[in-house]
Amino acid sequence: MSSRTYAAVHARLRRRRGRAVGQPCAAPECDRLATGWALVGEAMIYGEHASRAVRWSTDLDDYAPLCDSHNALLDHGGDWEMCPRGHVRVVWGKKPNGHCRGCARVQERARRRRLARKENDDA
Ligand SMILES: [Zn+2]
Ligand SMILES: [Zn+2]
Repeated sequence: MSSRTYAAVHARLRRRRGRAVGQPCAAPECDRLATGWALVGEAMIYGEHASRAVRWSTDLDDYAPLCDSHNALLDHGGDWEMCPRGHVRVVWGKKPNGHCRGCARVQERARRRRLARKENDDA
């Protein structure tokens, strides 16, 4: 059924709810303007759109206008409160690229451990 595709759902969104561009971002305490509709509810369908992995819902109420930064944040998984690894976002904050700082720290530690182990092996 073509009306369930990513493109069809987004076209329906624009018809029913207008353009998200220029509306205030729906994320808590964000004062930027939205650059598009973003999925804020449960994803029902996972697939590809324009050779990009995407997830979407056919329920138009699952979408909200979001700024680029918040759209990217949700694209990495998790939700407003927590990153996919369970770091509380307001505590950890995010890197300029939208990735969770807590995750970045976990990765950095793992990298240092690997380096230290390698140095021990070399010694
Ligand atoms: Zn925002
Ligand atoms: Zn994290």
